[in-house]
Amino acid sequence: MIQLYQPLNFLGMIYREIKQSLIDIEAMFTILARSPEIRDRPGAPALEMKGGTVRFEDVRFSYDPEREILKGVSFEVPAGRTVAIVGPSGAGKSTISRLLYRFYDISGGRILVDGQDVRDVSQASLRAAIGMVPQDTVLFNDTLGYNIRYGRAGASDEEVARAAELAQIDGFVRRTAKGYATEVGERGLKLSGGEKQRVAIARTILKDPPILILDEATSALDSHTEREIQDALERVSRGRTTLVIAHRLSTVVGADEIIVLQHGRIAERGTHGELMERGGLYHSMWERQREAERAIETLKAAGEEE
Ligand code: ADP
Ligand code: MG
Repeated sequence: MIQLYQPLNFLGMIYREIKQSLIDIEAMFTILARSPEIRDRPGAPALEMKGGTVRFEDVRFSYDPEREILKGVSFEVPAGRTVAIVGPSGAGKSTISRLLYRFYDISGGRILVDGQDVRDVSQASLRAAIGMVPQDTVLFNDTLGYNIRYGRAGASDEEVARAAELAQIDGFVRRTAKGYATEVGERGLKLSGGEKQRVAIARTILKDPPILILDEATSALDSHTEREIQDALERVSRGRTTLVIAHRLSTVVGADEIIVLQHGRIAERGTHGELMERGGLYHSMWERQREAERAIETLKAAGEEE
């Protein structure tokens, strides 16, 4: 019975995801691209959490055999600490987050959570321990309340409201016609990238996982929204093992370790201070971002003068 129920349940889930969330096509592809061969070992035990240390040991991975994406990546995020991954687009940063969540299995090395290989524990227990705020959030064609409560189905209205407040989406909700009962998506309200991301943060606050993966949005948010999201993220990551994939380098300054990924390899690693002193890739990325920011400021100032 259970054997029959699980695939049916999975199909049902996929069906609902397809039917209700055509809002975010890219995220849809991520869901559909999950390899069907990712299965629990017979009798796989639940992950035993002891703080949530994450360890990548010489991890190799390719989506297709011709092109290796990760070419031996090793790092550790000690329990409760924050490690940031930065690097050019296409380097393999988001891939690392998908592997920790076990959307795919690796071709070499090991990924461990508190010493347990992610392939040896049940997927349900692994995914229950990890909260993911993805680059692009999928919203369901349902109410704002439903979309937040998705983090933990049994949450009370008060808990949903509190999570919304911490994620700084409560003001937005209050400004809508029907508050938490407002429909979003195709037939309802359209949310901006920043608003969707804050809904995802609220979901994660409700889920309350010991391990957090944050994949920052690439899209240029205005700096006010950016600041609000940063504050919300900082609040959620406190005391949790956090892997943050950062596009804006200003957000990684406080990380315990920064890993610079390039072409599937770790090119540099260290604290912000160490990497700046080194004068390598990180340093030049930092300078380039500064220049870009200055250019935008100049353009804005010129626009205001007209
Ligand atoms: P980053 O997040 O650093 O920008 P990604 O981890 O998303 O990079 O992608 C790394 C590389 O893997 C890219 O070249 C990308 O095109 C490729 N890639 C990502 N997802 C898939 C997929 N589902 N199938 C095949 N190739 C993929
Ligand atoms: Mg990415």
